[in-house]
Amino acid sequence: MVSEMESVLVLYPSPAMGHLISMVELGKLILKYYPSISITILTITPPFDTGATASYIAGVSSTTPSITFHHLSTTPLPRPVSSYPSFEALTSELLTLNNPNVHHALQSISLNSTVLAFIIDFFCTPALGVAKELNIPAYYFFTSSGTGLALFLYFPTLHRKNTQRFRDTNTIHEVPGLPPLPSADMPGPLLDRTSKEYESFLYYATHISKSAGIIVNTFESLESEAVKAIYDGLCVTDGPTPPVFCIGPLIATQGGHGGGGEKEYCLKWLNSQPKRSVVFLCFGSLGVFSEAQLKEIAVGLEKSGQRFLWVVRSPPSKDKSRRFLAPSDPDLDSLLPDGFLDRTKDRGLVVKSWAPQVAVLNHGSVGGFVTHCGWNSVLEAVSSGVPMVAWPLYAEQRFNKVMLVEEMKVALPLEESKSGLVTATEVEKRVRELMETEKGFNIRNQVKAMKEEAKAAMNDGGSSLVALDKLLKSCRQKQI
Ligand code: UDP
Repeated sequence: MVSEMESVLVLYPSPAMGHLISMVELGKLILKYYPSISITILTITPPFDTGATASYIAGVSSTTPSITFHHLSTTPLPRPVSSYPSFEALTSELLTLNNPNVHHALQSISLNSTVLAFIIDFFCTPALGVAKELNIPAYYFFTSSGTGLALFLYFPTLHRKNTQRFRDTNTIHEVPGLPPLPSADMPGPLLDRTSKEYESFLYYATHISKSAGIIVNTFESLESEAVKAIYDGLCVTDGPTPPVFCIGPLIATQGGHGGGGEKEYCLKWLNSQPKRSVVFLCFGSLGVFSEAQLKEIAVGLEKSGQRFLWVVRSPPSKDKSRRFLAPSDPDLDSLLPDGFLDRTKDRGLVVKSWAPQVAVLNHGSVGGFVTHCGWNSVLEAVSSGVPMVAWPLYAEQRFNKVMLVEEMKVALPLEESKSGLVTATEVEKRVRELMETEKGFNIRNQVKAMKEEAKAAMNDGGSSLVALDKLLKSCRQKQI
């Protein structure tokens, strides 16, 4: 029997702003439809945090006091942050070291409440054992796409079938629910089977299928083939597939950036632009370009003749100790071509470092989005009906690009040259194609249709709310 104590869901995001924001939105969604359940979110302040986590949490606490944040004490890393080869390697170690704190937190929460479930991020897999020890059912919240989930569930099988590094082969892989996938389009961490990242991802992928269930931030009709393959149990080949709940799209209702007045500034400028005329260029929380690449983008935008709102960040720092820190604001005059800002001032706005993306995408003057294909950005574009040009930069974005272009048909591809540089000519061509041609028009129509599907999924009786209901039933059943 479910006890009389308060029922709580404990959510555990990995320490990256995008993941924390998605978890908070999941908490808000659950609270909206199941207000009798309490939500507690376990948080860690990562060593590279500049105060953004604390200010975001303070913002959420003031607007949604019913979400409780339980801050875990910080476990020091055994070596300097700069010695970690990647963000993933650092996060993985941090989360593993943090397990005793998670154990302690879950135990103390359980004293006064019934923990219905422990909902963890993909990267928090090391905490799965803690939930098992305490006999708490563990669910995953997968913050990337349904196609990404299909691939990760099938990854242990791909690993067994192949012996070479994907990076070294030209093989086309068959993954249930996905179009044929060239090795080169695999997510970055899967390319080299000798790397630490690959080992970690294999470990995560092996464990996710053994959980009590998987929640995905997507809606069924956006990725119907992949979702069907997962539901049909085709992606997990060494046992049953756990229940999968597509509860999205969850869109950030509160930004993770301290309000520096960017919002008013961008929206005011957009108010003065014609309807659907502006191309928005923004590359996630971590996307940075070399100075040479920034110049190519500027020249391409200028030649395209299109209106634009472009978020520019400083190029990557050469100082290794700053590699995981947010870059300082760029010096636009020295980074962009001479006179560019002046020549384009009537039709272009360049903002430093950060723009209020959700508000921008929802502004009627925006007609196109050049994106790095991060999954939150994709969902935000789809939910606001804005067609995309796909320019993947890191993580699983190259893979997302293939799905956006070939499966969902909501984006045009941008081609890199052999050196990795995207030329000004390519930027000009794709931006024009999106804004002026029939190809762009077709993509726009497809995104508009998906926007309506997204709304329908989140309406009463819609697929995502039905899935949410099943999720809560599943959590409660595990208590009996
Ligand atoms: N974002 C924003 N302004 C920016 C850059 C990013 O509001 O200038 C937000 C964006 O709306 C999205 C998140 O940051 O919600 C980025 O998440 P995504 O999954 O797209 O990419 P990631 O940063 O995880 O690579």
